[in-house]
Amino acid sequence: MAAQPLIIATDLEGVLVPEIWIAVAERTGIAELRLTTRDLPDYDELMRRRIAILREHGLSLADVQTVIATLDPLPGAADYLVWLRSHYQCIILSDTFYEFAAPLMAKLGYPTLFCNSLEIDGRGMIVAHRMRMTHGKRETVRALRALGFRVLAIGDSYNDTAMLAAADHGILFRPPPNIIAEFPQFPVIDSYADLRETIADFDADGVPERGVVLAGVRDDETLRGRLSTVDDLDLVDGHVSENAILEAMAENPILIERPIVETDKGVRLCRPQDKVREIL
Ligand SMILES: [Mg+2]
Repeated sequence: MAAQPLIIATDLEGVLVPEIWIAVAERTGIAELRLTTRDLPDYDELMRRRIAILREHGLSLADVQTVIATLDPLPGAADYLVWLRSHYQCIILSDTFYEFAAPLMAKLGYPTLFCNSLEIDGRGMIVAHRMRMTHGKRETVRALRALGFRVLAIGDSYNDTAMLAAADHGILFRPPPNIIAEFPQFPVIDSYADLRETIADFDADGVPERGVVLAGVRDDETLRGRLSTVDDLDLVDGHVSENAILEAMAENPILIERPIVETDKGVRLCRPQDKVREIL
């Protein structure tokens, strides 16, 4: 096994199971519950609205759980997860709640789930949501990398993009068009078969060509003293993701004041200039 084993951090809703709130909206006939983070990126605001709507309609936690119990994983998701867990370590990172997710976890073979909790009153009504921490998905990915794992992150929505950027490799799975347009830096995959292939390829090869350039940038001692932006961006921290460095390079071209050469044989950061011979 590689010195840095691969761990898969995957979103739940939209990737492995249907959007829970959309299902609740359909079965209760309350159209306003259809809003998701795809529509309203501020999750706290979204949850406060959802809880208020449930209260207005007199719907308890048990009512919502009854609806969720009728849901099944997305077609093919359970088999994909069996494959994934038989080959790699995997953690599901979700902004949902343990009280909601339990019936779906049973149908997925009880994978490891990091999510949040609900506060329930004496009548069984949901009164508040309790996020375990802010930016839980992103912070989990950062922590996993600090623990020596390479992290491949998979998600479909606004609340996933920070963890995708923090990972060694981020993938969008069946995202809506607005996410694709806003986050063109992430590859888009639409089937579990392609997801399996991409994960296996990444495990075998990493992202070698891009990695050479990024390693060169990271290891270049002149980088730290180049300009205050470097310290501001904290780019020489070993836990900064490749995506974050690429974004910083695009926004601050002075960071790449060195020759990057691409030929059919690969890509090199050509300092010293003799490095170019490796790919001629
Ligand atoms: Mg999702």
